[in-house]
Amino acid sequence: HAKRRTRDKVEVFKVSMHTALLARTELEDDLRQALRNGDLHPHYQPLVRVQDGHLVGFEALARWNHPERGPISPAEFIPVAEDSGLIIDLDRAIFEQACAQYQQWQAAGLMSAPLTLSSNASARQFLLPDFAPFVQATLARTGLSANLVHLEITESLILEQSHVVTANLAALQALGVHLHIDDFGTGYSSLAYVQRLAASALKIDRSFTNRIGQAEAGEELVRAILGMARALGMHVVAEGVETDEQWVWLREVGCDLAQGFHFSRPLAALDAEALVQRAALEAVKAFSPA
Ligand code: C2E
Ligand code: MG
Ligand code: MG
Ligand code: MG
Repeated sequence: HAKRRTRDKVEVFKVSMHTALLARTELEDDLRQALRNGDLHPHYQPLVRVQDGHLVGFEALARWNHPERGPISPAEFIPVAEDSGLIIDLDRAIFEQACAQYQQWQAAGLMSAPLTLSSNASARQFLLPDFAPFVQATLARTGLSANLVHLEITESLILEQSHVVTANLAALQALGVHLHIDDFGTGYSSLAYVQRLAASALKIDRSFTNRIGQAEAGEELVRAILGMARALGMHVVAEGVETDEQWVWLREVGCDLAQGFHFSRPLAALDAEALVQRAALEAVKAFSPA
């Protein structure tokens, strides 16, 4: 009987693997279709200056409202996009839409001070010869200044000594586009990587921010990252700030920027626009005599 049961289990396992594979293939097909139809859109999460709480920019985050399943989390569709290569089109679609959105806010006179745009770029982008030219063309078309653009990168694939990667990095640097290292402290981020990219900022992963006020060791780690970034002339962005306690602590240690549910979740374009407008009004108030 034991043998029989094992065989049954193996069968069940095979069936569920098959189902998972089918689901993934289906998701990939749907994603390809969604990209073709222009069904993926950015939401915008505010980045705030820790010192005074002012809005300094947004991170564009991909959102997909599936026609049958409803909203699907990036945690689910980004890995599928990475594995299938669809991430190239996805990243570019999000970046193009975000640039166009900034251009529209600019044209409508809503931006009193220029806001930065952070956009996630898969490391795969850097292996394509047309990546930097794509960025340049998009900026030229939408009129956004290169120095307001922060490309966020997570993986270390980019460390590969490839001529294409080197050429892209040089071209982006010549344009004035900044590179930020996302989820710093997790995965394969290393000091060699920081140097190779000539990154201008580190984004402290949410898992470290979480530990502020919870664990002495976590706080020491954040302090160490800040110290290192300062020594290297880089800025630090704390991700995933959820509590007032974390915010106060980050201000005390001199963290530059913060992002998290404490200020705002990622916002749909219209809600982000309302925030842009309000920030502009506050800036005007601050400069005019009472
Ligand atoms: P990420 O780039 O590190 O973005 C931050 C993620 O943390 C976002 O998740 C954001 O909604 C979430 N977050 C922000 N503040 C808080 C907080 O206070 N608490 C908690 N619990 N979460 C917070 P999201 O939008 O689900 O995106 C997940 C990841 O998917 C992103 O992590 C990024 O790696 C990837 N991603 C999203 N859009 C794109 C894209 O257009 N291209 C690429 N290549 N990757 C993308
Ligand atoms: Mg990011
Ligand atoms: Mg991150
Ligand atoms: Mg992440």
